[in-house]
Amino acid sequence: MRILKYLVLVILALATFMVARTVLVLPSAEPVKLQMPETIPSELDRIANNLSMAITYKTISHGLNVPPDDVAFRGFREFLSATYPLAHTAMERETINDYSLMYRWPSNGISNRKPIAFLAHMDVVPVPAHGLNDWQHDPYAGVIDDEGVLWGRGAMDDKGILISMMEAVERLISTGFAPDRDIYFLFGHDEELGGDKGAAVMASMLKERGIHLAWAVDEGSAMVEGAIPGVQSPVALISLGEKGSVSLKFSAEDEGGHSSAPKGFTAASLAARAGYLVMENPYPLVLDEYLEAFITSVAPEMDFSKRIAIANLWATRPLLTDQLAQNPTIAAFMHTTTAFTMMKSGTKTNILPQYGEAVVNYRIHPRDTVAGVVERAKELVGDARIKVAQLGGREATSMSSTSGEGYLMLAETIAETFGPIPTAPTLTVQGTDARHYTGVADDVYRFMPFVFQPDDLKRIHGTNESIRVDALAAQVVFFENLIKKAAN
Ligand SMILES: [Zn+2]
Repeated sequence: MRILKYLVLVILALATFMVARTVLVLPSAEPVKLQMPETIPSELDRIANNLSMAITYKTISHGLNVPPDDVAFRGFREFLSATYPLAHTAMERETINDYSLMYRWPSNGISNRKPIAFLAHMDVVPVPAHGLNDWQHDPYAGVIDDEGVLWGRGAMDDKGILISMMEAVERLISTGFAPDRDIYFLFGHDEELGGDKGAAVMASMLKERGIHLAWAVDEGSAMVEGAIPGVQSPVALISLGEKGSVSLKFSAEDEGGHSSAPKGFTAASLAARAGYLVMENPYPLVLDEYLEAFITSVAPEMDFSKRIAIANLWATRPLLTDQLAQNPTIAAFMHTTTAFTMMKSGTKTNILPQYGEAVVNYRIHPRDTVAGVVERAKELVGDARIKVAQLGGREATSMSSTSGEGYLMLAETIAETFGPIPTAPTLTVQGTDARHYTGVADDVYRFMPFVFQPDDLKRIHGTNESIRVDALAAQVVFFENLIKKAAN
């Protein structure tokens, strides 16, 4: 009886403590709404027309073996000079590897802060011939429809961003603004092919010249609405790093024979077993400091039961880890993922195969490495009959700081431009040019001042890529605000 009483008291005390902690995470008074910054209608038209023109240059990245379209890239470069005369007078421009563009907006010398960089890319992915008919408008015509939507390849990825940056610079110069630190605009021409000839070369040039950036910002993350379960309000996601990737090929050879007299394992089943073993032993899911910062940032927008769980991670961490991992997108942030993607073996139903292979694709979390992935797979398979070969391999980047100048300025500019929406750190699961700048900047962030509706994700690299003209104008205001904050 006494024990029961004691237990009830302990439970009551714990419950009170948990609720009290939850109060620390106050809910938002009402769902936060995105506020669009005000823009002048005539400006809106000019900005839209300029992006529309930019889309007409077919700066397409077809493949690593196809040279860039000289006429298109040259034309685009000349279009930039003609459209942004003030920017091209105030800034120095170098052409790197024939097509990439490195702009430097020199400091007025008032402060001695480290330079910063704005990154974007000029190239776009091709529109496959079989998908052309599904486009509502010609993907390279830059059509602006009656509803105020601008259509075309690159509208979002990434000419819309590049043009917004140039518009912001042009407008700031026209008001007499001069930055008090060097600002670079680094526009790659082969981002869609990995950026080895553009961004990678520009990054090594900065290094050779002894230029070290305080921070850089690129595409790769954005504001999202309706994408985070349980969160109604828009959330600005600033990405701190990129996952790496590698594929492993597990192969086995065997002398073969007739299937009527098998000896147990075949080359096919050995390869399959290797793939199965690594899939059966996934990397542990971790609710790390970054995911914790993420859920804490969005907690005020969630209901009480979720807030009580987030406010009491000391007790709920294992449970919450499991719950979050139910969502494959969130699980991808929590560990190195494994996907068994390919198999090859056998020629006939009654012949023992002489060769078998299985391929597993890994997306590497910043806490893991390519070498570590290979090592772990070899241990898990632990079978001399199975060869493990590495296909490709790209390390994850380091994670940038959430307390550095760049992160704070991005967060402040988001609030200033779009209202007090929650800002949370995230991790990019695909590759961008940004990773090439890891060694030449203290921090590299990925953020586009654009609201992704769940529908938008399939438009990027897909059919009917488009942007609302008012959203485009808001991007310009964002970059203007950010430049003023960072260099004034
Ligand atoms: Zn892009």
